[in-house]
Amino acid sequence: MRRRLTIALVAHDQRKADMVDWVIYNAEFLSHHHLVCTGTTGRLVKQALINKGFQPDVECKNSGPMGGDVEIAAMVVQKEIDLAVFLIDDLNPQPHEADIMMLLRQCRVHNVPIACNRYSADLMITSTLWDDETYVPTPPRYEKFDREKFNL
Ligand code: PGA
Repeated sequence: MRRRLTIALVAHDQRKADMVDWVIYNAEFLSHHHLVCTGTTGRLVKQALINKGFQPDVECKNSGPMGGDVEIAAMVVQKEIDLAVFLIDDLNPQPHEADIMMLLRQCRVHNVPIACNRYSADLMITSTLWDDETYVPTPPRYEKFDREKFNL
């Protein structure tokens, strides 16, 4: 990939093992990009990449429950994030559920690719579309469905 991306990485506590595994698996790729993370995730990601011999570019925001998701969502709104990997703990309640929903919603509204499992993340980072200058992402439309327009 020629483009240097800004990639947001967030993992809840019970998903951090998955995130660290994914980062180690993709260490070479991730070392070429700017990583923006919630606090604890970021420190783990940075150390995992250093242990693999890379000099990663990791920006740590606040911890998720203290507003880290909100800070990353603000970057999404400002069009500063190209891709997000968000490993959510779907089996345990989170104190910052509202912030989680907000980050997901802003990614949808602002058409930011967001992977919520490793498989999606792997598919996204290996896409050739990142370097395809003819490809223009289609933004979501929020409009009344017109059956006639589609001949239905
Ligand atoms: P953390 O935050 O990386 O600081 O643990 C993640 C979260 O719980 O949203």
